[in-house]
Formats: sequence, structure tokens, C-alpha cells
Amino acid sequence: MFNRILIANRGEIAVRIIRACMEMNIEAVAIYSTADKDSLHVKLATKSVCIGPARAADSYLNMDAIITAAKVTGCDAIHPGFGFLSENSDFVRKCEVEGITFIGPTADAMDALGNKATARKIMMKAGVPVVPGSDGPVEDYKKLEKIAKKIGYPVLIKASAGGGGRGMRRVYQPEDLKKLYEEAKAETRACFNDDEMYVEKLILNPRHIEFQVLADEHGNVIHLGERDCSIQRKNQKLIEESPCMFIDDDLRKSMGKAAVLAAKAAGYTNAGTVEFVLDERNHYYFIEMNTRIQVEHGVTEAVTGIDLIKQQIRIAFGEPLKIRQRDVKLKGHAIECRINAEDPAKGFMANTGKISFLNVPGGPGVRVDTLLYTGYETSPFYDSMMAKIIVHAETRLEAIRRMRRALLELVTDGIITNGDFDYLLLHHPDFIKGNYNVGFIEEHVEEILNWDKAAEEADA
Ligand code: ADP
Ligand code: ADP
Ligand code: MG
Repeated sequence: MFNRILIANRGEIAVRIIRACMEMNIEAVAIYSTADKDSLHVKLATKSVCIGPARAADSYLNMDAIITAAKVTGCDAIHPGFGFLSENSDFVRKCEVEGITFIGPTADAMDALGNKATARKIMMKAGVPVVPGSDGPVEDYKKLEKIAKKIGYPVLIKASAGGGGRGMRRVYQPEDLKKLYEEAKAETRACFNDDEMYVEKLILNPRHIEFQVLADEHGNVIHLGERDCSIQRKNQKLIEESPCMFIDDDLRKSMGKAAVLAAKAAGYTNAGTVEFVLDERNHYYFIEMNTRIQVEHGVTEAVTGIDLIKQQIRIAFGEPLKIRQRDVKLKGHAIECRINAEDPAKGFMANTGKISFLNVPGGPGVRVDTLLYTGYETSPFYDSMMAKIIVHAETRLEAIRRMRRALLELVTDGIITNGDFDYLLLHHPDFIKGNYNVGFIEEHVEEILNWDKAAEEADA
């Protein structure tokens, strides 16, 4: 097994990976920017190396500094976590040249799937159902106009390099196409330094369903069931759960098969996620494959009992998978809430502060992955996700109740989070009934925000 792994990330995911390393008797080397010198991941790692100033471009995205840090500390592998360099194939190639194992897929598989327009093509060829749309990238507005007309409105303009819900625009009528295309293109250029676009039919009221896959370097590919990530704000996931209450064994089998086929078609290895939208008639369509560990991997770990980070490390070391498809059983129900330093009362504006008191929820069936500790000053330089609460219970309703009480236990004095918003959301009758799709928050945000007031007034 590897002796020492460098973790090319920060925050709660760096902490999560350090935990897996410790349990495997592998030394964990943390990297940090000057802004992060007091971070939890630095405190918990075996060793740590400062790799540059606060700006991510100068530190967590600085490939040469990171590779040098791995070499001076004698690391034999690098775990990229998610975000930052996790989907950068140049970084994978640089690791390869230096003889350092990248814990993830090969650069070629990453390239094939990283461009979402190319990924669609691969899936179509392999027979994985994709959303009707362009065959590949759309070169110019004229072509877009033609394809949009052919597939029929509404359409969704998307960025080949897209991620995090950016570079996407819904278009309901032809009159708006030009303006929204320009907007999406500009956003894509600003975010990803690339402005290749493609187009899909907009599926109405879909659910976001994704399948976790594991693929070793010996040709074994399995899936670990699905996650329902339909509770989103601005195309960003907020609450995730597994299993999805509307997927029966037959549909799970069929979608799982498609997910495995998708991974095989791309020559994929390591842990990955195949994302689908599921329409109102339970037809599913591939939208993209994420070539890394996912923020929401914890819900799959809860229901399968499989440690995904350890699996990633073992696969990268060249071990064959010991788990067969028939061994994978989903037990009970798991829900995750992402706790972001965002103020729902101020339009979910991000905020920072010094944590004067922290209470981390605990008790049966509750797991919290966080970068917070009492006295920690949160940084404006990075993502606003501060913690993930993951609960596991026998049934979905019990998991909902468990999550509510965990949210009540959460105290993060010094910053404002969306925790209370989630608490209220978990009381919404449509959420409880499972009567929701990706538009749920957009549709109900005011109602949820005013819930508190309504309840107070009713009590008075
Ligand atoms: P996921 O599907 O893993 O939940 P999202 O769609 O929420 O990812 O995020 C989109 C992009 O932003 C991905 O590249 C992901 O790696 C990155 N990302 C999301 N959350 C964080 C975070 N808290 N820190 C760093 N990167 C993040
Ligand atoms: P990203 O790379 O930013 O994660 P995705 O392609 O995964 O982008 O899409 C993000 C979200 O947008 C999905 O979870 C889903 O809610 C919505 N979405 C994506 N494609 C479609 C589509 N064709 N029709 C309707 N909604 C879609
Ligand atoms: Mg996605």
C-alpha cells in the first residue's frame, strides 16, 4: 500500500481524506495556503506544507508547487478531493511524469468525460440514453437556432466545460435565445476560460438522480445505487438522499446498468458519478459524468456501508475490487444537508466570521464532516460550504426526523448558515411526501422562509 499521500485540497474534504488515510495506516500530507495556516486539515495531517498565497490560483491550483510539495515530502500518491485540480487532466499527466499516482481516473478518461458535449457523444454511441440535443458542440448562434427549433422549446443552453450549475440558461421561447446564449457564453468564458456551448432539450420538472460507480484497473465495474439530488438552489445541490423513494428495483437495475455501461464506454477507473435527469414518466437521460469523489458521497457510504475514499485509494494502488455487484445492498435511508455560510434572509448571501462557539450534532445515526472548530475564522477566499450533516435511519421519515433534530443541535455562533432554512424545508409537506423536483426550492423559497413567522402567528 502507499506510504504517504498528499491531499491536494482543503476544508472538510481534506479532513475526510486524512481520516481514511489514518485508518489505513497511511501518512497524510496536507497542503495549505497562507490564509489556511490555522485550518483543521493542517492540524490533523501527519505533516503539512505551505504552497502559496490565499488566491486559489496561486496555491490550491498551483500544479508545480503541489507536485514539488509531494516530492519533498516523499509522497507516492496524490488525492485531489473535489473542485480545484480534481478534474484537471494536465495535473494528472504531470503526476504521471513524476511517478506519483493520481488517485482518480486516467487523464484520457478525464478528458473524454470532462467535455460534456464529447461525453454525450460517447454515451450515445454506447447506447446510454441522453437528453435529446446537439450531437456535439454548437459552433455558432445560427446552428444553435436551427437545433433548438428542431428539438423544440424549451431548451437548455449548456457549457461543455460547465460545472457547479454555471454557464447554463433555460430558454422558453425563440425570442430569448440570442440574449441568453450570449449571457451563458460570457459566463462560461469568465468561469472556465473556454466558451464552447451545446444544447439539450429542457426536461420539465425532472429529478436529478445520480449513480455512484466504482471501477478498478482490472475491468470490474459496479454501481452503488443512486442518490436523489433534486433539492437544488441555482442548479447547486443542497440536500441529497439515498435511496430515491421513487426508484423501484427494476428501475434501479436498469439505471445502474446504464451507469456501468457509461463508465465502461469511457474506459473509466476509480470512483465516479453518472448523473441522470429522470422525467415525470420515469424515463432517464444521461447528463454528465463527474470524474471524482462527489460532495455527497457520504449518503452512499451510509446506506452501503462502503468507505468510498478507501476504495479510491485501493483502486489507485492497483487492487482489484473485492465487492461484487450482488454484494451491494442499500440498507435504510440516508440524507445529507450541506451547511453553507449563506444567509437565507439576505438572498443566501455568503458571509464569514470567527466561530465563537460550535456545537457539532451527534448521537445515533449522525455524521458530520466539517472544517469548523471553536475559534476558527472562516475564509472569504474559498467555498462557503462549512459542513455536511449526514443522517442514517431505517426509513426516510425517520431520517427526516433525525436530520431535524441534528439541525437543532447545530450551533455555529459567528457565522450565519442555511441550517435553519433546511430545518424548515424538512417540514414542508411536499418534501415529506417526496412530491418535488429540481424546481422545489425556487418554487417554495418564500413560503419556507416565512414558515417561522406563520408558525409564530398561529401560536399567538
Ligand atoms: P457535486 O456534484 O460533487 O456535489 P457540485 O455540482 O455541487 O458537485 O459542484 C460543482 C463543482 O464545484 C465541482 O467541480 C465540485 O468539485 C466543486 N465544489 C463543490 N462544492 C465544493 C466545495 N465545498 N469546495 C470546493 N469545491 C467544491
Ligand atoms: P453541472 O456540470 O453544472 O453540474 P449538469 O449538467 O450536471 O451541470 O446539470 C446541473 C443541473 O441542471 C442538474 O442537476 C439538473 O437539475 C439541471 N439539468 C441539467 N440538464 C437538464 C436538462 N436537460 N433538463 C432539465 N434540467 C437539467
Ligand atoms: Mg452535475
